Amino acid sequence: MIDPVLPTYSRVDLVFERGEGAWLFTKDGQRYLDFTAGIAVNVLGHAHPHLVAALTEQAGKVWHLSNVFRIEGAEKLARRLVEATFADTMFFTNSGAEALECAIKMARKYHYVNGAPERSRIVTFEGAFHGRTLATIAAGGNAKYLEGFGPALEGFDQVPYGDLEAVKAAIGPETGAILIEPVQGEGGVRSASWPFLRALRALCDEKGLLLILDEVQCGVGRTGKFFAHEWAGITPDIMAVAKGIGGGFPVGACLAKEEAAKGMTLGTHGSTYGGNPLAMSVANAVLDVVLADGFLDQVQATTARLRQRLAELKDRHPAVIAEVRGEGLLIGLRTLVPNGDLIAAMRAEHMLAPAAAENVVRLLPPLNIGDQEIEAAFTKLDAACARIEASLAASKGAAA
Ligand SMILES: *Cc1c(COP(=O)(O)O)cnc(C)c1O
Repeated sequence: MIDPVLPTYSRVDLVFERGEGAWLFTKDGQRYLDFTAGIAVNVLGHAHPHLVAALTEQAGKVWHLSNVFRIEGAEKLARRLVEATFADTMFFTNSGAEALECAIKMARKYHYVNGAPERSRIVTFEGAFHGRTLATIAAGGNAKYLEGFGPALEGFDQVPYGDLEAVKAAIGPETGAILIEPVQGEGGVRSASWPFLRALRALCDEKGLLLILDEVQCGVGRTGKFFAHEWAGITPDIMAVAKGIGGGFPVGACLAKEEAAKGMTLGTHGSTYGGNPLAMSVANAVLDVVLADGFLDQVQATTARLRQRLAELKDRHPAVIAEVRGEGLLIGLRTLVPNGDLIAAMRAEHMLAPAAAENVVRLLPPLNIGDQEIEAAFTKLDAACARIEASLAASKGAAA
């Protein structure tokens, strides 16, 4: 009999009752170090007092309002994001995929109102992940996610990640934009390299294309800057944001420069829930913390300490860990054993982390972890690697 919850996920049989910072607790009081953080969502960990206060205060006032009325929280969040980023304007959504949908529509509409409606094609990259709606699976180009869902939405031309010549070759008279994750998350924690992003920016300027960044996973402080593209010293025309911006409440946003957004006029787009008062109160509270003086410096310092320990870990376990990669606290451990084996061994040590492509284990801690969590992570990872080495030795012994 089918599970009452549509069985599209492979789920770990653990039920967490509550969380506190980087720790999750089961009903029977077992404690787990959470380096999944809802897949880069819980940027301030679980039950952060400032976020809890913002949500509960708003819950007692008004939960939801139609977007036919002014929503003060949305106006405030938008003003703050305009202040802190390249953007002049933005559309609020409930998820990353919806932010990407808005970005794709915006790019097509931009060329349409410029009198070039044929420029609807977008260059995308192998290994990309942009969500699970019909448009975003087409943009992501992952055959596994497209299979069986009918004709894929037309208009995406995929090239190898980081290959500038392939990008140039893919650009034709119908190309209107380039869409890229500055650091691929699901794709295996791969960095585009900052010179490559700069080259894409220059190419877009030269050819009249819009540069769309998907910072759903790598944004909101994850790399140690507010947004990852700041490391490259460039700005996009459009950017999709979600995950961390809500700190655990479903919030997304499509940010844009005024010029790029010029086709999105009255009535061209909408969302019932996007930007609702509950969501906006939490997102504003996330910004209170992430944009406070010194917070991102602290993320960079934490990154340096954690990576130091991970380099040690790799040296101690060369048969398990091949490479430590990624940017900031978007970290990938490429493993020499199946990545699922390390994830299972970590879980046995009460540490949680998600997988990624290319046989990578992702480490996505809350951004505000301290030395205690860094040391706990090292100890648990060290023990997990030792478990794997012991089982490798045992199977070798059995074979001999
Ligand atoms: C998670 C993710 C998305 C999709 O976000 P949803 O909220 O699941 O729709 C899009 N792009 C990237 C880079 C992501 O990591």
